[in-house]
Amino acid sequence: MLAGTDTDVVIIGAGVVGLAVARELALAGRDVIVLEAEDHIGEHQSSRNSEVIHAGLYYAPGSLKAHACVEGKERLYAYCAQHGIAHRRIGKFIVAANAEQVARLEAICANARACGVDDLVMIDGPEARRCEPALTAHAALISPSTGIIDSHAYMLVLQGEAEAHGASVVFKASFERAVAGSGRVRLWTGGVEPFEMTCRLLINCAGLAAPALARRIDGYPSARIPQESLAKGNYFTLAGRSPFSRLIYPIPEPGGLGVHLTLDLGGQARFGPDVEWIEAMDYAVDARRGERFYAAIRRYWPGLKDGALAPAYAGIRAKIGPRDQTQDFIIDGPDDHGCPGILSLFGIESPGLTSSLALAAMVADKAVRSA
Ligand SMILES: Cc1cc2nc3c(=O)[nH]c(=O)nc-3n(C[C@H](O)[C@H](O)[C@H](O)COP(=O)(O)OP(=O)(O)OC[C@H]3O[C@@H](n4cnc5c(N)ncnc54)[C@H](O)[C@@H]3O)c2cc1C
Repeated sequence: MLAGTDTDVVIIGAGVVGLAVARELALAGRDVIVLEAEDHIGEHQSSRNSEVIHAGLYYAPGSLKAHACVEGKERLYAYCAQHGIAHRRIGKFIVAANAEQVARLEAICANARACGVDDLVMIDGPEARRCEPALTAHAALISPSTGIIDSHAYMLVLQGEAEAHGASVVFKASFERAVAGSGRVRLWTGGVEPFEMTCRLLINCAGLAAPALARRIDGYPSARIPQESLAKGNYFTLAGRSPFSRLIYPIPEPGGLGVHLTLDLGGQARFGPDVEWIEAMDYAVDARRGERFYAAIRRYWPGLKDGALAPAYAGIRAKIGPRDQTQDFIIDGPDDHGCPGILSLFGIESPGLTSSLALAAMVADKAVRSA
């Protein structure tokens, strides 16, 4: 059907970021085709996450992550309200388990302020227990602007708006390779019905696969492609009613935010994600990892009963760079990598869901200058 087509913009990936970019560009009047390898939207990171609207507390001040999260949060709350997407500004507690960890809370508070988040409130243990009677804490930081969202409903609205403005999402169309040059990018897909087409601008929003796909673009400088690694995050659900009415987070750990409690919009509690470095894609949850969850959760909820946790699902974070270092989001255009007509998004891990509308605005801005 698309064989031989020449279009304005092709986006690789119909996750939340690809869809947000498609909507933004379609609203700006550009002709957009989204190529998605799977047969549904959001099959990878975008449906395997905590569905938390992050406040923007932990990221390096001045970084793309800090900016995209804080701006994305505001845009996302407004978008949800405008389009009737289920969400709740439920708030979260970050918990210091002992006196030594209070300094970590103070550091988070200072960092958040430097990122433009100035609504955090520090409370002591007894006050935390008055708010959340099941909680054991030496102190806690309250983040009132943290929330939860029905991420699938959000993606459907993005897709609907993009399509209403002329974009199309093509499923089972797996990007294979491309050649950039002379005002046009030529690309090839695989899958059941392979085809070849051209476009003015190719945008790589392939999440975990983004670095691997960039390596298949002829002329793309390898020095601008970060090394990817896969950090799996496993979740366990809690049987019965949640003992908490807010999200409960410990102090962050290397690679993730610590085994925290999130609630879905139906009030079901789940714990996770942990951090498990893996070599190949694998979404199965090993029930034996639950043992570590009990120990981690009992630091802030000693009332957790044996046998209360059941394996739920796993997601895999699109990490880039060395494992022991925090990396920023990367949006690279021709000014950065020198390859005409190509925009690449790398390392779009958390808070990518929260940041999606802000990232889309940044990509649209670069798109104007790229092709
Ligand atoms: C465990 C976990 C918890 C998280 N929790 C949160 C949270 O609470 N809040 C938050 O803000 N963020 C969170 N995130 C981050 C957030 O989920 C991601 O940043 C966001 O979903 C990234 O969206 P994306 O569209 O870039 O990637 P993806 O959703 O991974 O989409 C990429 C798409 O590209 C497609 N694709 C891949 N290869 C090809 C190809 N060759 N051809 C065509 N299509 C291809 C894939 O099929 C996929 O649909 C979490 C992530 C994880 C893993």
